[in-house]
Amino acid sequence: MNVEELLAKLVSFPVLGGESNLSILNWIKDYLKNYGIQSNLVPNNENNKASLHCRIGPPVDGGVILSGHMDVVPVDGQDWKTKPFILTDKGDGKLYGRGACDMKGFLACCLAAIPEIINTDLKKPLYFAFSYDEEIGCLAAPELARAIKKYYKETPKYAIIGEPSMMKPIIGQKGIYIMDTYVHGSAGHSSRIKQEVSAIHEAMRLIFWLESKMDLLINQGITDKRFHPPHTTIHIGQINGGIAPNVIADKAHFCWDIRTIPKDNIDKIVSEFDEYCRKREKVLREKYSKFRIENIENHPVVPHLDTKVDEDVVNLIKAISGNNQWDTVSYAAEAGQFANEGFQSAICGPGSIAQAHRADEFITKSQLKKGVKMIHNLVKKMSNTNFN
Ligand SMILES: [Zn+2]
Repeated sequence: MNVEELLAKLVSFPVLGGESNLSILNWIKDYLKNYGIQSNLVPNNENNKASLHCRIGPPVDGGVILSGHMDVVPVDGQDWKTKPFILTDKGDGKLYGRGACDMKGFLACCLAAIPEIINTDLKKPLYFAFSYDEEIGCLAAPELARAIKKYYKETPKYAIIGEPSMMKPIIGQKGIYIMDTYVHGSAGHSSRIKQEVSAIHEAMRLIFWLESKMDLLINQGITDKRFHPPHTTIHIGQINGGIAPNVIADKAHFCWDIRTIPKDNIDKIVSEFDEYCRKREKVLREKYSKFRIENIENHPVVPHLDTKVDEDVVNLIKAISGNNQWDTVSYAAEAGQFANEGFQSAICGPGSIAQAHRADEFITKSQLKKGVKMIHNLVKKMSNTNFN
């Protein structure tokens, strides 16, 4: 199967983040088995999902992990002009389908390279690491990265995460955390606003605290020019509460996210906010004893990626991708999680993130070709005794 046929096959499995991925997993496992490659699975507790990893080449230190996720985002409510789970070639140089770009394109490039990889005398091993549930919070990658470290006696050196980056090496990624805040106040006639505790008024104060916190960090000069924007952001994207203008709201809820540059610390910001909430509770309980503020995690922390420009992985990716310009991103990806396990990590893959997660997602044929070329260049480099 060529890369386009492989991509069509992968797109045909409508495995969404959060759902069982056994269908696509088993197909990939069988595909690898046909080439004599044994896969190792890292299942979840319920045994209805699993990540996969395998090694091709000698069991020596210094290998390269190629990583990607098998799940995709939903298509509900999106206005698709093609059938999202049938890869469609409209003759405009683009291949349309859910996951074509994010990120089954890269998986197809990896699988298409197998015949070449097994016929090459690799001096260092190449690993595949394919995860599930990336799209709902990069949930499986930490365990997958740990499993790789534990399973193999040798230690891989690099991890290349093939998220769509237009084949640019991505060396930095902001850390991400999402929280829900629930405020429980007391209801009453609006004329009694000084006697009751409005959940909306208090939510507003908390939101203002969060916005001020962001501004404070910026004003303190905690910035990082590699990122756009070059500072940590705190944003409230959802708010609800109240039933009428003349009724004091006893409930309010807002949902917010933090995206941190490596210099800032998610846990520190969250615990300072929590401290402020406890302080407000103390004050307002004098007026209404049952007043409380609940902070509930909506999305686990996805750690930042902070690969330095002079790390070997950056030069490696520059060499194999033919792209000299590095960049950073503010979206969640698994690169920081692989870096946390000690692998030099960076993102680089075919397709543009601008096409991800939307209707009529596509990858251009030329990007797909560049992805194949990158892996070909990597394999060639790894057949050289000087590869390190
Ligand atoms: Zn992705």
